[in-house]
Parts: sequence; structure tokens; C-alpha cells
Amino acid sequence: MARKTYYEKLKDPRWQKKRLEVMKAASFKCQVCGAEDKTLNVHHGYYSRSLEPWEYPDNTLWCLCEECHKETQDCLEFIQRRIGAIHPQLLQQFIESRSLGVIRGFNDFLFAWECDTLCVMDPDCYEQQESK
Ligand SMILES: [Zn+2]
Repeated sequence: MARKTYYEKLKDPRWQKKRLEVMKAASFKCQVCGAEDKTLNVHHGYYSRSLEPWEYPDNTLWCLCEECHKETQDCLEFIQRRIGAIHPQLLQQFIESRSLGVIRGFNDFLFAWECDTLCVMDPDCYEQQESK
């Protein structure tokens, strides 16, 4: 049997049921702008190759109008691009640490819009930045 494409999976009755539940829980309103008169989508907050579209946790599925869906996708892509530039050691520190300093450093990096070349590629340099 040929593997189903993602588009085909979205026609699966399990996804149709799930998306209806998400929309119903949001009272058929966009959860960003509150629109009731626009086409609504159910947005996946993240993607995993090991999950079918209907298998995601409820708290990662969002009822959004098409416009807010597009903006949300753009925001996620932006954040993922920045996360992609973080040194793997720092990612591990973030996951393992309950230190507010590490979490703040991570947050500062994500939102240091003006600085794309911040030397987070190098953990030592990152620590110098953090201690400023
Ligand atoms: Zn909206």
C-alpha cells in the first residue's frame, strides 16, 4: 500500500473529527483575532514525523483564521531558524538546566532581533554575553 501524503491524511476521518473538536472548543472563533466570519484552520503548533495529524496533544492545536494561521507559521519559522543557530551544547544546557540564567540567556538570544551574528556558535562567547 502506498504511503499517504500529508494532504491525503488531512482527509482522514480521524483528523476531520479532531479538527472539529478543536474548532468547537474554540467556539468556532479564531484564537488570535477572534474572527467568526473567516475560514478557520486548525494549526499544528509543531510537527513530528512520528505523529499522524490527529495524534498531537490538544494543547498544541489551535483554531485560527487563514490570516492568523499564516502569521503564526511565519513566527514559528522565524523562531525555529533562530533555534537552529544555537550551539547544540547550549540546547542541552537549556533542557537540563533549571537555571534562570540559562533560560534568560536563551530567551535573550531568541529575541535579540538586531543581532544575527551573536557569537552563540561558541559557548564561551555566549557565556561572556550572558555575564554582561
Ligand atoms: Zn485570526
